Amino acid sequence: MAIAQDKSDLKPGKARKGLVPLVHDELLDHLMAGLDGAMREHRGYGETDVRPVAVEGAGHRHSDSGGCSRRTSYLLRGVERSNPMTVIEKWNAFVGTVLHEWVDEGFRRTLPHAEFEVVTSLLIPITDRDGAPVVGLDGIEVAPLLTAGHADLRVDMPTADGPKRVVGEYKTQGGFRFKKNAGFQGEAQGPPYGGLVQACMNARALDADEVWMLDIAKELVAKAYAEDYGLAADDPHRGFSTWVFDRDYIRRVSDFEIRRLVRIVELNATGQKVPRSVIDNGIPKGARIVDPVDGRWQVVNEDGSVADTGTSYLCIYCSHQDVCIADGP
Ligand code: SF4
Repeated sequence: MAIAQDKSDLKPGKARKGLVPLVHDELLDHLMAGLDGAMREHRGYGETDVRPVAVEGAGHRHSDSGGCSRRTSYLLRGVERSNPMTVIEKWNAFVGTVLHEWVDEGFRRTLPHAEFEVVTSLLIPITDRDGAPVVGLDGIEVAPLLTAGHADLRVDMPTADGPKRVVGEYKTQGGFRFKKNAGFQGEAQGPPYGGLVQACMNARALDADEVWMLDIAKELVAKAYAEDYGLAADDPHRGFSTWVFDRDYIRRVSDFEIRRLVRIVELNATGQKVPRSVIDNGIPKGARIVDPVDGRWQVVNEDGSVADTGTSYLCIYCSHQDVCIADGP
């Protein structure tokens, strides 16, 4: 059973040499044909590919925090995804889901009072920069934005000063990204920005004192490589990284995200195009995507000269890349 794929817009690929895998592989075709349904069934999403929103009526998911403002505007307006995940990308996400479940199992044994997949929500008033209600093109005041999510973990930890509420967020990473985040490949970038904002939004909703971020490697840092960094073979840092953020940090990050969401809702409601502003690890403040095909960004000085430039993976994996390209800057 062959799966039809339109490959007409792909660049001619490099020729691989040696014992390369089959192009038409009966085994792989069977797997791909069955995998989508199997993953849906396990996740319990029914026919939809996207996890149902945590709270009915929510207009924004905390898991869509940070990243690109233009993409956020599409999501808030309910614009159909022009670039949905393919089966093989869903597999990647599914592996993450399964690892989450196993991490939960581990914590259940040592933190028996912890709760998992805790539903969170925030109601955000939509006001302009002067604090006045925003009025849409239809002449009606824009309703508050209900945002919602699931905190991976909530646990009250005993301390000498009384219980401390912790919200945990786990992110699975490929080997390269794991190493970059943890400082095994250049300067440590820290936890993924979008995940950190998601955690801070959940923590704010649950009135938490701390956020614990946990990066889970899908591939361990190699033994010899880890040794170069002074890690023994049994060091858990070969596969897991943790960071802790306090209440002050939670407040600052969630305040920033709330302001970002309010501005995007305001621009949407007043019929203005939302800029391709991006905020992510390794991207400086004020960066905007100038080429959504390859994710090239620039920071421009007041005199129009380019202060900094680079590329981001955000566009390549964006669910609305084709819509964005068609919409223009
Ligand atoms: S393609 Fe890039 S610039 Fe456009 S919405 Fe997606 S992430 Fe933003």
